[in-house]
Formats: sequence, structure tokens, C-alpha cells
Amino acid sequence: MPEYCPACGLKFEREPGFYFGAMYVGYAFSVAYLTAVYVAFEVLYPGFELWMYFTSAITSLLVFTPVIFRVSRVVWINFFVSYDSKASQNFSSSSDEVPCRSV
Ligand SMILES: [Zn+2]
Repeated sequence: MPEYCPACGLKFEREPGFYFGAMYVGYAFSVAYLTAVYVAFEVLYPGFELWMYFTSAITSLLVFTPVIFRVSRVVWINFFVSYDSKASQNFSSSSDEVPCRSV
């Protein structure tokens, strides 16, 4: 993960351990995914065996873990930083100074 956004200069690591809270977002995404897989099994394969669900759900969850990890960080930082459409216009990556942005 880069330290600053190359387009607008936003500092991603706002404080040490900032993304610790993204773990909770990732947990919510994981639970939602496992629930969706369970519902899909109920709809598509009525009378399925539980080992089939656990094997496919956990295997596919492991595959999606890098995606969930990154999306969780994006969701977490968006709790604290609002979108500024003019930030990239006011920032030039060639300059040495990195702008400070308010929350
Ligand atoms: Zn940016």
C-alpha cells in the first residue's frame, strides 16, 4: 500500500494502527459472504450436506480474502475521509510538499 495517494496526496496511514478497525469491516463482509453462500446452497441444492457447504464456503472465502482485505480498508478509510472531487486538481505529484487534508 502506498504511503500517499499518487493522485491527490492523501496520506493513507493516518495514524499507527489506523487500519486495525478494518478488521471488523472484513469480518462483516466475511459473515455476509458465508451467509450468501449458505442461502445459495439452500436454493440451488436443497438437502445438501453440511460438509459440502463448509468445504466450498471456506475454500472460496480463502480465495476472496485478498479482495475482502482491500475492500475493507477502502470502506474503513471512507468512514473518516470524505470524497473531495477537487483534491486531485489542487495537487501536483511533482511537488515535494504533501498537502495536509482535513477530515
Ligand atoms: Zn487520491
